[in-house]
Amino acid sequence: MAKQRPWKVARHEALEEKVEVGAQVNIADIQFGPEVIVDGVKRQSMRAIVVAAPVFAAYGLDCWITSWVRPDDDDSLHKYGMAVDLDTSNKSASLKLLLAIEAEIQHLLGPNYYVLYHKSHFHIECDPGNQGVRPYLEA
Ligand SMILES: [Zn+2]
Repeated sequence: MAKQRPWKVARHEALEEKVEVGAQVNIADIQFGPEVIVDGVKRQSMRAIVVAAPVFAAYGLDCWITSWVRPDDDDSLHKYGMAVDLDTSNKSASLKLLLAIEAEIQHLLGPNYYVLYHKSHFHIECDPGNQGVRPYLEA
């Protein structure tokens, strides 16, 4: 059985939007916001982007990293490089589409990740066992 290619994303059945699906993404097309800190990024949140960006592309949306490491956060996996915020510059995308993208990224990343569309961006964190920042405080 052939390996599934991550950029060959099937169209979410609930969608009615007329968007091109199956688009390929070039990792170089991922944009960085001006304030994004990458020092301390963990491979788990890098994986989140590698998985999520093709989903954005599949629905015709560009992908922006708007926040990654936030050293000054207290109760957030951003502090430990395990969470990343993504957004698209396409503000005409419907909430329905954005929630479908949220569900699709969650499905692809699996249960060790938590994907949430809120406050007009996608927050994606790697949080095995749903322990939040606790393992990092005990380390
Ligand atoms: Zn976030």
